[in-house]
Order: sequence, then C-alpha cells, then structure tokens
Amino acid sequence: QAKTNGRDQFSVYKGIMTTQVVADFKLEQKLRAAVQGNEIECWVQSKVNGDGQVIAAEALARWRHKGNLVSPDEFIPLAERLGIINDIGDIMSRAVARAIRAVRQYQPAFKIAMNVSPRQFMNEYFVANLCAIFVEEEVDLAGLQIEITENLLIHDIERVKVIMDELAAQGVSFSVDDFGTGYSNLQRLQWIPVTELKIDRQFVQGGMEGGRPQVLLETIISMSQNLGMSTVVEGIETEQQFKYLRAKGIEEFQGFFFHRPEPVAEWLQTLN
Ligand code: C2E
Ligand code: MG
Ligand code: MG
Ligand code: MG
Repeated sequence: QAKTNGRDQFSVYKGIMTTQVVADFKLEQKLRAAVQGNEIECWVQSKVNGDGQVIAAEALARWRHKGNLVSPDEFIPLAERLGIINDIGDIMSRAVARAIRAVRQYQPAFKIAMNVSPRQFMNEYFVANLCAIFVEEEVDLAGLQIEITENLLIHDIERVKVIMDELAAQGVSFSVDDFGTGYSNLQRLQWIPVTELKIDRQFVQGGMEGGRPQVLLETIISMSQNLGMSTVVEGIETEQQFKYLRAKGIEEFQGFFFHRPEPVAEWLQTLN
C-alpha cells in the first residue's frame, strides 16, 4: 500500500520536474539567443547627493524580449547557473565603458557602477576581458566602480583580494551591494579594498517606524560610517525617507524618488 503511494507520488513529482526542465531549457535557448542577438541592453540609474545633484550612476541590465523588458532578477540567476553571465558581463562592460567615456567629457571625475556577480568575478578571464574592453574603447578604468555582493566574500578571499588589488591599482573602486542581506563575513571586509557600502532597500522599508527595523537601519548605517566607508542607501522612494537618511549623515542616495533607470542614450541627455 505504502509502496503504491510512493510510486504515485514519485510519478507526479517526476511529471512536474520534467515540465520544469523543459521550461528551463526553452528559457536557456532564448537567453543564449538574446546574448547573440543584441537583446541585452544597458540601462542607467543616477545616484544623487544631499542636494539632489547627480554625482554617480549604476548600470543595470535589461533583456528586451519580443517587445517586453525582462527584469534582471529573472534572468541573471539563470545566466549565472548557465555561465552565460560572463557574456552578459562583457556586453555590460562595453556599454558601461562607452557611457563613462561620454559622461566624462563633461564631468571628468564621474564614475559609473557595474554589478558583477560572484561567478563572473571568479571567472579566470574576468580581469583580462574587462581590461581589454576598456583598452579597446579607450576608456580609463578609473571611471568604473564595481558592485560586488557579500556572497563573493565566502569565496577564496585570497584570490578575491588579488583580483581587487589588481583592478584597484588601475583606479577601479569597489562597493558592497545589498549590504546586510547576504552571507557576509564582516571580518573579511578589512582585507579587501572596498570603500563603499550600499545599504539594501529592505532596510529602508519600515526603517523609520521605530522598533527593530529602525534599530537595524540605524545600526547598519553607523557601522558603515564607523568603518570609514562611504555609505549609500538604495531604494529611496519618498521625501520622508530621503530627509531622514540625510539627517543620519548619508551623503549618497539612489531610488525612484530621484531617478529611475533609463536607457543610456536618454540618461546622457537628461544629464546635460
Ligand atoms: P541591485 O544592484 O541592488 O540594483 C538595484 C535594483 O533596485 C534595480 O533593480 C533598480 O531598478 C531597483 N531600484 C532602484 N531604486 C529603487 C526604488 O526606489 N525602489 C525599488 N523598489 N527598486 C529600486 P533591477 O534593475 O531590476 O536589478 C535587480 C538586480 O539585478 C540588481 O540589484 C543586481 O543585483 C542585478 N543586476 C542588474 N544588472 C546586472 C548586471 O549587469 N550584472 C549582474 N551580475 N547583475 C545585475
Ligand atoms: Mg547594484
Ligand atoms: Mg543593490
Ligand atoms: Mg538591492
């Protein structure tokens, strides 16, 4: 009796698995085609200072698929699993290099941040590819900031440090993105050339209504400031949040309240 049940359950489970595998496979084919067919676009979201002036920006990938924009939350994890992330990284690096060149004609110290996921960062050709693209585009790497995640720090920290030092020597700066949400080993922060922490927007939501959420937000901000890090808060959607964070000493902000991500060409126009 139990055996029969077990078998029935198994076949149902197998049925679901098969559908999932087929769906993944189709998505995989589409994503590979997207990379080949120029469907991956680079969008940019400005970051502002306490006066609301644009002082930096972040590049964000978009997949334009049959007229729709697919969010990176939907395709970056898959791209990571399939290794396609390295090709997407190259596309983004080139687009970012060009955007840096364009913006630096007017603002010579401007930096654009690019997200680099752990698998991308640990790829043996990561530094070589990145440098080659910036050389080809004749753009100074000092215009680049790289946003890593805490999850990178669970990898071979010696190697992470070597890669970071090599890029830092060429002027690249490093920021830890979504700070406070990953598996972080805070101890490791002191060994690597990170100069900025970007506090995740989850801490902002509900972070002004007292109780633990507010204690958490304030504690994470003080920690970052006490570490001497430049502290950015992302996901600011209201003026109230902005004023509150400014009063806490935050000097760099990113969120829909100020600017939404937009295609590079449009972003460059609104800048000038
Ligand atoms: P992230 O790096 O933390 O980027 C910030 C995300 O928050 C972006 O979502 C941005 O559009 C969104 N955002 C900005 N301001 C606000 C706000 O005020 N409210 C809300 N609710 N959201 C806001 P997006 O563009 O969908 O990107 C999602 C994530 O995908 C990124 O999170 C990043 O982890 C990853 N990603 C994006 N582009 C790339 C890329 O080129 N390479 C890699 N490896 N990852 C990328
Ligand atoms: Mg980011
Ligand atoms: Mg972030
Ligand atoms: Mg985030």
